[in-house]
Amino acid sequence: MNFKYVFGPVPSGRLGRSLGLDLLGNAICDFDCLYCEVGRTRIHTQERKPWVPTHAILQELEQWLQLDLPKPDFITLGGKGEPCLNSDMGAIIEGVHTLAPDIPVAVLTNATLLADPEVQKELSAAQVVLPSMDTLVETEFIRLNKPCPGLTLPGISQGILDWASHFAGKIYLEILLVAGINDTEKNLEKLTTFCHKLQPNRIDVVTMTRPGADIAAHPVDHTTLALWQNALGAQRTLISAADLSKRGVPICIQPDQLEKAIINSITIRPQTPAQIAAAMGTRLVDVEKILSRLLKIGHIIRITQDNEWYYSLANQEKG
Ligand code: SF4
Repeated sequence: MNFKYVFGPVPSGRLGRSLGLDLLGNAICDFDCLYCEVGRTRIHTQERKPWVPTHAILQELEQWLQLDLPKPDFITLGGKGEPCLNSDMGAIIEGVHTLAPDIPVAVLTNATLLADPEVQKELSAAQVVLPSMDTLVETEFIRLNKPCPGLTLPGISQGILDWASHFAGKIYLEILLVAGINDTEKNLEKLTTFCHKLQPNRIDVVTMTRPGADIAAHPVDHTTLALWQNALGAQRTLISAADLSKRGVPICIQPDQLEKAIINSITIRPQTPAQIAAAMGTRLVDVEKILSRLLKIGHIIRITQDNEWYYSLANQEKG
């Protein structure tokens, strides 16, 4: 079976081995962030609807769970757009719990819909929600996140606070900094006040590690990142590929199953062979063998960054 909506597992610095579910099937979002790794938003909308049918996602997940791969630490709703825009999100989370009762569910969200009582109800079944809030300065917000008309910062930030006061699971707040846009003192001041009110279980201040939708968007330098992390009491430690590979003995996976899983994994996120092996819990040598075959037939490409080779699908359509 080829997977369209299930991808990974991918290594996540916050969640460990994360098996992704794409609830949109396309780059559908109410933001169009300069740094988005999926590329430009194709459908810029606030409309909630069943963009991908629940049964299609759950059927794929059921098939994936039958593969002989190590159990992921989380099943994560995210993918090519904003997962809360899928109006069947509640049914999908419920279905995941039925199929994989021992794997917690995480949801990545840009937080724009957290004020919606229906979304709040649906999210209450998730164990972890990872909202992002990059800036509380209006001009920076418009430039960086390019929201749909009608979305306002006071509305979104108050929505996060209201939702958080009822949510029983864990909240991991993410702030992504882009050089020269939201790395301002004014934003740091406002976000400091906001974080004091929110009191999330963890805060991550990150910057771009891969090219985003707009080539003009660049990461901040290490000094700026460290300054923000200190000021906001952000986590400095992330789960690395090395941490993941230390867990248990790497297993041998049938080459055809491993190949499918690798293709799925790099469809959403380019990765190094070590990251893939760590996320899959398999041997590096097996991963390298498959990557080299796929590279030879032109199915995948590799790019170099920070002296590492990252593999991704060739001619991959963004979104
Ligand atoms: S980064 Fe997230 S919120 Fe921003 S455009 Fe991409 S999917 Fe939407």
